[in-house]
Amino acid sequence: MRLRQSPSFRMPKNTHMQRINSSSQIVRLREEAISEVDDILRRSGAHRFFLVVDGNAYTSSGADKFIEPSLVGRSVTRFSNFEENPKLHDVEKGVSLYKDLNPDIILTVGGGTAIDMGKLIRAVGCTGDSARSIATGSAQITQVRPPLVAVPTTSGTGSEATQFAVVCVDQEKYSIDDSSLLPEYAIVDPLLTHSLPPKITAATGLDAFCQAVESIWAVGANQESIAYASEAITLSLENLANATRDSAGSASKARMAMARAAHLSGKAINISRTTAAHALSYVITSRHNVPHGVAVALTLSPMLAYNSKVVAKDCADPRGPREVLKRIDLLLRLLDVESVSEACGKIEAMITEIGCPNSLRQVGITSAEELREIVENVNLVRLSNNPRLATADALFHLLSTDSRTCQFEGPAASVGVIA
Ligand SMILES: [Zn+2]
Repeated sequence: MRLRQSPSFRMPKNTHMQRINSSSQIVRLREEAISEVDDILRRSGAHRFFLVVDGNAYTSSGADKFIEPSLVGRSVTRFSNFEENPKLHDVEKGVSLYKDLNPDIILTVGGGTAIDMGKLIRAVGCTGDSARSIATGSAQITQVRPPLVAVPTTSGTGSEATQFAVVCVDQEKYSIDDSSLLPEYAIVDPLLTHSLPPKITAATGLDAFCQAVESIWAVGANQESIAYASEAITLSLENLANATRDSAGSASKARMAMARAAHLSGKAINISRTTAAHALSYVITSRHNVPHGVAVALTLSPMLAYNSKVVAKDCADPRGPREVLKRIDLLLRLLDVESVSEACGKIEAMITEIGCPNSLRQVGITSAEELREIVENVNLVRLSNNPRLATADALFHLLSTDSRTCQFEGPAASVGVIA
C-alpha cells in the first residue's frame, strides 16, 4: 500500500521553533467577554464592518444581542451563506462581498468553519490573487489588511488562536498556514457556548483534548507549546464530561474551563502542529461524515500505544526517542495513570462517557477496504509531524488489529512508504 502525496498541504514553516508572538493578538477570555466587542469596534474608528457569521450560532449563542447595537449607523455587509467546512466557492462569494465593501474591520462569529472563513476571506480579499491560488499555495498573502476580530461560539478547535485555515478545493482539503491569518482579537466567552447541544459540546471538546494530546508528542513541540497543551489536557479531563452534561443553559465552571482548554489547545498546535490522529481524521470526516473531533479521537489511543514504542531507527523527532518518551511520560502523569494501556483505557472511557463513538466500527467503518482508503489518503504533512515514523502498512496494521476493531478482514497491506 502506498500513501498518496497530497500536493495541497504546505509544510509548516520553522516547525521546531515557531512561536506565537502573543503581543500580536489581544485575547479576552472570560464570561461576558463579548461585551468588549462594542468597545473594540468603536475604538477601531471603523465605519465599514464586514461580518462573517454562522447565522444560527450568531443568534442562538446570544452574540447578536451584544454586536447588533454596535452596528447601528455603520456600513455593514454580512456573509453567512456558507456550508460547513469552508469550500472554495463559498470563499469566492465572500471575497466578492468583501471587495464591494472594502471594510475597515472584519468580525467573525461561530465555530471553526466561520472563523476559518473569516481568515480566508480577509487573506484573499486583500490581495490581487485568486482564492484558488492563495488556497493552493501558489500565491502568497502579502497585503496589509484590516483587523480581524474572532468570536468562537464553540469550545473546540481554538481556531481564534491559530494561523491556519482549512478550505476544500475540488474535493481536496488544503490547509493554509501563514502568520498573517492569526486574528488580531480573540474574544472567548464561555457564555456563548451555553446553548450548544451535548453532542456538539462533546465533539468540539474532544477536538480540544486530542489537539492537546497530539501537541505533547508532536515533532514540532517546544516548551511553550507543551505548557499550553498540558493545561488544556488537565482542564479537559476535569471538565469535558460536566460541560457536556450542562446543556440547560445555566452558567457553569465546566464551560469556562473548556473555553480556556480549547483556546490553549489552539495556542499549543499553533506552535507544534498536529500529528497522526489528525492526519487520519480528515478522510474519516469527509467520506464517513463523522464530526471532526470525534473522527480525531477514534485513532488517538491507538496512536498513543504506537508512539510509545518509538525507537531510534523509527524516530521522526531529531531530538531522539528518549525525548519523545519523556513527553509520553508527561502525558501519563497528566492523565494520572501509570502505564500506556491504562492511558488508552482512560481516553476511551472518557470518549464513551461523553456519548461519542470510540471505535471505527462504531461509526460504520467495518471493511478492510474502507480502512485502506483512510490510510491511503492520510495527510502526509500532519503525519510527518508524528514522533514515530508510520508507513501505510504500519497504520493499516495498527488500526486493523486494534482490539476494538479487530474484525476487519482482508489481506495485509503491501509495501508502503511515507512519502
Ligand atoms: Zn482539530
